[in-house]
Amino acid sequence: KICIVLHRRDLRLGDNSAVVSAIESGRLLIPIFVWNRQESEACDAGSASCWWLHHSLLELGNQYAKQGGELFFFREPTQSVIERLIREHDVEAVYWNRRYEPDAIKQDSGLKKSLKDAGIEVHSFNGSLLREPWEVETKQGDPYQVFTPFWKNVLASIDPDKPLSAPEAISFEKVRIESCKLDDFNLLPKLDWADSFHEYWTPGEQGAHESLSNFIRNGIDDYKGERDFPAKSGTSRMSPHLHFGEISPRQICHAVQVHLNRKRKDNGQPGADTYLSEIGWREFGYHILYHFPHTTEKSLKPKFDDFPWDNNAKDLKKWQQGMTGYPIVDAGMRELWETGWMHNRVRMIVGSFLAKDLLQNWKSGAEWFWDTLVDADLANNTLGWQWVAGSGADASPYFRVFNPVLQGERYDPSGKYIRQWIPELSELPDKWIHKPWEAPKDVLKDAGISLGETYPEPLVDHQEAREAALAIYEKIK
Ligand code: FAD
Repeated sequence: KICIVLHRRDLRLGDNSAVVSAIESGRLLIPIFVWNRQESEACDAGSASCWWLHHSLLELGNQYAKQGGELFFFREPTQSVIERLIREHDVEAVYWNRRYEPDAIKQDSGLKKSLKDAGIEVHSFNGSLLREPWEVETKQGDPYQVFTPFWKNVLASIDPDKPLSAPEAISFEKVRIESCKLDDFNLLPKLDWADSFHEYWTPGEQGAHESLSNFIRNGIDDYKGERDFPAKSGTSRMSPHLHFGEISPRQICHAVQVHLNRKRKDNGQPGADTYLSEIGWREFGYHILYHFPHTTEKSLKPKFDDFPWDNNAKDLKKWQQGMTGYPIVDAGMRELWETGWMHNRVRMIVGSFLAKDLLQNWKSGAEWFWDTLVDADLANNTLGWQWVAGSGADASPYFRVFNPVLQGERYDPSGKYIRQWIPELSELPDKWIHKPWEAPKDVLKDAGISLGETYPEPLVDHQEAREAALAIYEKIK
């Protein structure tokens, strides 16, 4: 008796319901991963995500090898792969953890139906959320569009069970299986752009747990106060690990609870509560994507679809390259390029700058993030961009335009973050670090800066851009 475990965004063995149920069925396992770019938007990952995926699959393959098995890789469409395995081996059942992106749902429902019609058992599980999006509803039976009541509802009902342990022993189907190699997926970028990523990240289940333990030991108690300061290591950096399912949110919530119990803080603690509510925002992103799938393309609030964006390719390029002349914006964009990640506060600032100061469609920003973030995630990227553009669920109000100078002065007061990512400004005194164009000529000269040459002049005047944006928003309101 044989079964297939189809891995997608659950690249772990711990707390993996599909893997555990397959083992408990007493069948021999064939674990597989399929990479076919035509299949769904969830698979059409950007370059930085592909780098992560390659290393994460390598790790999962090693874990299976330690248990005496193998993770098999295929490039044909999932349905053909599974049908071939069913034909060539005595497969009775397929196990997987669910996905929530619109195309992925369509693909999985079609696959489920055709397998069932062919008499094959299909077992699907929740492997990446605290609650399924369809389980959480308002008193009127509608989906939520506001975060706070959504999270209250989820918190009141999350599964208090301990996460499932990683299996101690797995029995594998040992007959030869024709498959391809991980390298055949060609996931690593051709340019050497991602070489630096290893300095910042350890993809894989073990890396995920090490990051979490480190954060719980050193960061969670101060999270509430530190999380907005990009120069500090105040956040957990769990986003790519969560996106690829190297760790589950249930494991994270459980680890936080164990930490609180150890500290005898039964009623929570500000750092831990705030941290859990960020995990809640991730859930909210999936809730919105599931119930309002059109939001990946169109605004949740339809009136914003008429916004007269100024799609200027030159401005977009300068934003992408971190050459806008606004230091906090440029530092964020350069951090993104160098590390595949950007601090949340800075994501909001660069997003607001693109949509409201440069009047570029938020979708161009979302596309750039999709290609360059190691944590690029359709649900959370869409939620984040619609939030900054003011067009989404529980969005920042349209009249909130982040002032890049004030944000910089408030959240990076000594300019440490700016100096880290924009070395050409490193000698500028703190007073001018967020507005070099206001610095007296001799100060600039002493700092070795020639505006327009060594560092750009501001691409737009923020006050003027703000007023122009507000006038348009006012009209479509
Ligand atoms: P922590 O502060 O340690 O938070 C813990 C976890 O909670 C994160 O790993 C993440 O899973 C979740 N989380 C935290 N903040 C948010 C949030 N605002 N929305 C949703 N989930 C959150 N997050 C992604 O995972 N993928 C994306 O593609 C993405 N794109 C974004 C685009 C924009 C314009 C904005 C404003 C935000 C975006 N975010 C995205 C949300 C957020 O910036 C990142 O999740 C966070 O910076 C990840 O760092 P961390 O793991 O250290 O977060």
